Amino acid sequence: MLNVLKNRFEQGCKTSRYPRAKVELPARYRGRPVLDPDAPDELVERCVEACPQAALNGSDRSLDLGLCTSCGTCERLSKGKFISFTRNFELATAERKHLVTDGSLPDLAAHSKQHFKKLFGRSLQLRQVSAAGCNACEADLNVLATPFFDLARFGINFVASPRHADGLVVTGPISRNMKAALLSTYEAMPAPKVVIAVGNCAISGGVFRDSPEIADGLESLLPVDLFIPGCPSHPMTNLHALLSYFKRA
Ligand code: SF4
Ligand code: SF4
Repeated sequence: MLNVLKNRFEQGCKTSRYPRAKVELPARYRGRPVLDPDAPDELVERCVEACPQAALNGSDRSLDLGLCTSCGTCERLSKGKFISFTRNFELATAERKHLVTDGSLPDLAAHSKQHFKKLFGRSLQLRQVSAAGCNACEADLNVLATPFFDLARFGINFVASPRHADGLVVTGPISRNMKAALLSTYEAMPAPKVVIAVGNCAISGGVFRDSPEIADGLESLLPVDLFIPGCPSHPMTNLHALLSYFKRA
């Protein structure tokens, strides 16, 4: 017992001070993109053709965060002269269309539905459904329960039963086999309820889009309130989104 206490004392508190203190992500992290509107046409065209996700639009020079896997091909090809990625992890939006961006995104807290902040600002219980995800998005949600992130200190928890949940968190491209289970989970939740799409598979089908085996994005099945992009979405992106959208300032 004494050793346990000594250990605790020596290690100190491991929980992040976010959002009161900034969190710096590693240099290799690719967060919010910056697109140069004046990049040469030929360079833009090369990036558009090389993008494996068809996430780039050359005519309006935008990038769809709901499709982009952050593979970095466009940044490498353009040597940062058309696209470069910053370490800004604040990527979530309240509307799907806002994920198509030139690098700027609306302030999520300002776009939050105010009655959600009132209802769920102090306590938010979430039920997670992995609808055929690869387990990376799921792992990056799981990690929010670890001491560093300690999601529960904000009154946000994952619960086992949809009957106890205020919100449905969906990951994965929603395969045909998971569709009925997902819809039943939504139906089992008491109103008012929120729906959160985490990861590009849930938002757009991601790397599986156009497959006849999956749904055409969560929005084609349920009313989505919050879109958290990424492949997978970074735990800090998830945390920032949940706090900005649901917590009172
Ligand atoms: S980083 Fe995103 S936009 Fe760029 S090539 Fe990869 S998938 Fe396409
Ligand atoms: S968005 Fe990417 S990481 Fe998340 S479930 Fe789909 S393939 Fe996996």
